[in-house]
Amino acid sequence: MAARGNHRARILILGGTAEAADLAARLVAQGETDVITSLAGRTANPAPLAGKVRIGGFGGVAGLTRYIAENSITKVIDATHPFASRISENARLACAAAGIPLERAERPVWQRQPGDTWIEVPTLDEAAAALPAGASVFLALGRQHLSAFEARPDCHFIVRMIDPPEVPPAFANSDLVLGKPGINPEDEIALLRDHAITHLVCRNSGGAAGYGKIIAARRLGLPVIMIGRPKEPLPAPG
Ligand code: NAP
Repeated sequence: MAARGNHRARILILGGTAEAADLAARLVAQGETDVITSLAGRTANPAPLAGKVRIGGFGGVAGLTRYIAENSITKVIDATHPFASRISENARLACAAAGIPLERAERPVWQRQPGDTWIEVPTLDEAAAALPAGASVFLALGRQHLSAFEARPDCHFIVRMIDPPEVPPAFANSDLVLGKPGINPEDEIALLRDHAITHLVCRNSGGAAGYGKIIAARRLGLPVIMIGRPKEPLPAPG
């Protein structure tokens, strides 16, 4: 790992994913660099991380550029969730402004396997529209992605969230399940069966942590409305 002048290299990992946590542990174990992981602060009790941790938004591109300078960051590794487009675009612009390298740790997408029944759609709105009337739907989506489904009072939704929401989902035809995505397909099968689920809606996040539900849907023969990754980064905030 190259260091600047006499200083140790200091890496900022943009985190919030299992892969970012693994990366921090690996880099800290190597002992050659200082490692700071940044979390947005979306979950109330994040799991402990190797190295230093900072929490909360930076304040856009300008804030991240300032943070890089003030903390003598020598490289940024963007290991955020594949659907977290804003922070990835901010990192691209801030690293260019600061003149330091940016690496992107992008998870491969899940590929359709034999036995999978996937309806692939590009957006949340199209996912909501793809559901048949009367469906009993498991929404494996964060709380900020639920509003598209308010347009479907003819379906019933089970919504899984990691933390209890401050404001419950706005649509009445839903029940809340608290918990993280299960890595074990048997747990996910039990959950889908217990709630008599007929359809799963999720985003093609990739990675092992969320794949249990995909295996569960395959084994139960359930259709999955699979939302594809955003193709273009969001425009930079003004
Ligand atoms: P986003 O739309 O790309 O980012 C929105 C704003 O949140 C950013 O402009 C930034 O605020 C702040 N932010 C995001 N990630 C940050 C980080 N690692 N450290 C500091 N600030 C961060 O992101 P999102 O979709 O809301 O996701 C937020 C975080 O949750 C990400 O770090 C992501 O890895 C994690 N996560 C997201 C998902 C998902 O489904 N999107 C799933 C699992 C985990 P400022 O502009 O003020 O800097």
